[in-house]
Amino acid sequence: MNDIQFEEYIRTELTNKIKMTEVILRAYYELMLESGITADEINQKIDEIISRKVKGDYNRFIRKNCPRCGSIVTESYTQPYRGMCAKCGTKVMFYPFDDGKEETKETDPLACLDF
Ligand SMILES: [Zn+2]
Repeated sequence: MNDIQFEEYIRTELTNKIKMTEVILRAYYELMLESGITADEINQKIDEIISRKVKGDYNRFIRKNCPRCGSIVTESYTQPYRGMCAKCGTKVMFYPFDDGKEETKETDPLACLDF
C-alpha cells in the first residue's frame, strides 16, 4: 500500500466512523425526544458540558503539536476546544474528552455499544 492508498484507506475508515457516530447520535436523540426530553434541554446540556470545561473541571492544559510546523499549541482559555499556533497561526482543534483521562463505562456514551 503506497502513501496515497494509505491516505485513502484512512479517509474511508474515518468517514465510516463518522457515519456510524451519526447513526448512534440519532438513536440517542430520537430516544431522548421519545422520552420527553426537548431539543432545548439537549442544547442546555451541551452548554453545561462546555461550561464545565471553562471552569476547569476537565484538564485545561492539553497540548498538541501544530500540524503545520510542529510547535506546541495549548488550548485557548476563552474558546474551549480551540487553540492557535503562536508560531504560524494554524488553528488547532482540541477534541472534547481527548484529555487522556480514562472514561468509565458509565460516562463513555460509546462504551456500551458495539462500535
Ligand atoms: Zn504552527
